[in-house]
Amino acid sequence: MIKFVCFKCRKVFNRPEGQYHSSGRAPRYTCAECGDELHHVGFAFRPPRRQSTDQWRKVEVLVRHGFNFPNDVGGYPKTLSEAREFVKERRKPNHTVQPTRASARG
Ligand SMILES: [Zn+2]
Repeated sequence: MIKFVCFKCRKVFNRPEGQYHSSGRAPRYTCAECGDELHHVGFAFRPPRRQSTDQWRKVEVLVRHGFNFPNDVGGYPKTLSEAREFVKERRKPNHTVQPTRASARG
């Protein structure tokens, strides 16, 4: 089973891995309560209390930027503002990502 979260309901769902291994991508599931798409989170994810909206927003910021708590989680931010810094830092074009091979040549 792998973990999914619904940010709207602030709930965690365990769902079967499905095609995860063959396709390398998490299968898509929707929330049983609100129908929103569930977001895959890794094993290191620990759900905040339901009433800690800031903590949930922090999780949402991270997951939406692709930091979805893999096993070897090192120093994930503790607060919402830290999370915003965290994703900003990592989006900085410091080390340029290899440019996709130019399709502009026609
Ligand atoms: Zn939901």
